[in-house]
Amino acid sequence: MYNEIARQRRQILGDAARVLKKLEDMQLKDPQLYFKACHDSRGLLRNLFWSDGISQLDYRLFGDVIAFDATYKKNKYSCPLVIFSGVNHHNQTIVFAAALIADETTDTYVWLLRQLMFAMRGKTPTSIITDGAMAIRNAVRDVFPEVRHRLCAWHLIRNATSNVGNPSFTSKFRKIMTGDYEIPVFKRKWVQLIEEFGIEDKPWVINMYEEKHMWATAYLKGKFFAGFRTTSRCEGLHSVVGRYVGSRYDLTSFVEHFQRCVAHMRFNEFNADYESTRGVPVMQTCIELLERYAAELYTHEIFLFFRPFLSRAGSMRVLKIDNTNDCIKYIVCKHGRPDFTWTVDFHQEEMIFMCTCLRMESFAIPCEHIVKVMVDRDIREIPRSLVLDRWTKKVKSALNDPSGFTRDAVVISRQSALVEFSKQLAAVAAKVPERYEETRDLIMGLYSSYKAADEGENQPHSGVARSSNLYVHPTTGGSGQPSKKKKRQRCSVCQMEGHKKTTCPWQKDTDNNVIENEAIGSDDGDMCTEATAELDSNS
Ligand SMILES: [Zn+2]
Ligand SMILES: [Zn+2]
Repeated sequence: MYNEIARQRRQILGDAARVLKKLEDMQLKDPQLYFKACHDSRGLLRNLFWSDGISQLDYRLFGDVIAFDATYKKNKYSCPLVIFSGVNHHNQTIVFAAALIADETTDTYVWLLRQLMFAMRGKTPTSIITDGAMAIRNAVRDVFPEVRHRLCAWHLIRNATSNVGNPSFTSKFRKIMTGDYEIPVFKRKWVQLIEEFGIEDKPWVINMYEEKHMWATAYLKGKFFAGFRTTSRCEGLHSVVGRYVGSRYDLTSFVEHFQRCVAHMRFNEFNADYESTRGVPVMQTCIELLERYAAELYTHEIFLFFRPFLSRAGSMRVLKIDNTNDCIKYIVCKHGRPDFTWTVDFHQEEMIFMCTCLRMESFAIPCEHIVKVMVDRDIREIPRSLVLDRWTKKVKSALNDPSGFTRDAVVISRQSALVEFSKQLAAVAAKVPERYEETRDLIMGLYSSYKAADEGENQPHSGVARSSNLYVHPTTGGSGQPSKKKKRQRCSVCQMEGHKKTTCPWQKDTDNNVIENEAIGSDDGDMCTEATAELDSNS
């Protein structure tokens, strides 16, 4: 018996050491990768948190709204997996960080959230969506007292099913949760619902009502959650991850396959980036100038969200215009429905629009009422005040460093995207001999010319592609200048080359925060004092 336990313990120790080695190896390619392990008093691994370079860059742009929850049975030790996720400019799910944890206590979640803040240089989100587990709520309140906290609709619907067990209730509950009601209407509908099913006394029902401000759209509208209300998002991420990781995996292969899953999600983003650059869609509404402007501004996905508002603005009427001291008030209604009105306040000087429907605040996309006012005033471009960068095509250009060097993480992720694009090409090109030769010559021609440009030489070394000079970039190719191989200094804060800690662009973020440790990704053996359990095999 003792021998068996000792054998298992040795196995676990070996596995824990291997996964840390694996992450260190990953760090060689991606120096921004941050990971942190937490051990118990016996030296067993308790918690492991990691976030790679691209995740951290994504967080800079899309870290305003984050979601996280724990899932189970995804590895050999059955320890919970926590994924911190968000939404990119194509409305795709992205991963900011992940962690394997030994238990779901408040202490563990506090540790996790502090790791997240450290990896993200102290940038706090504005909104958090979680599954509502008590330990998570306590930790969020502890670490982010100011941040809005919403409970995940998918988990609530699952809870409704398990607590009431009536499909008819579940579908009505869902409708009340997501309905765009005024608060008194919401309250009335809730009372009707629980009376209809005779569940007034159920603790779950009483508890849900007490926390309505954390899940009911009636209370949450006007707060930005990047469209996270959609219940499929959480479920979608779980099922995608489930396709990549298996319940028999040890820690090392778990991390490996999880990162493969993340790489796959990122390839989908590269694809969407490509789609968004391909021309402008056919205009469909009669407000063509605004539609065209929106098509060029927003990514394809977000444009498709916005376009229905343009169509609906066509059936809107301006009932009345009131000039007040500080703004112009537009009373807007739907054609044929003068009893339903919205008020749009327009502040001309700052070009600020505020509509009583609050959809601009909830989704950061102008509503049909604001569009109607824009049409009424003959505004032909969506004003800056109504545009959130995170939904635009150019949001990622913020990452193109002006000083010209590229972050390692960006290079790695582009590289794997090109491999995927090439795979797609190879699959169709290999079928026909002529296609194969044409593709091969193109690839090798490009390769030779880029290589020559990098080396600053006129002629490529290899004779594979004689026509390679066709592809030499006019400004960089054939200059004859040997490249400078100067060793650059590396910054200890952000690990980028070309500047020092004191001139680091990140420094501003770090200064504003309590997080002072600079040793990003350099240590992994910190002891947790509150440690009580370990990543244990329960088989
Ligand atoms: Zn509106
Ligand atoms: Zn720096």
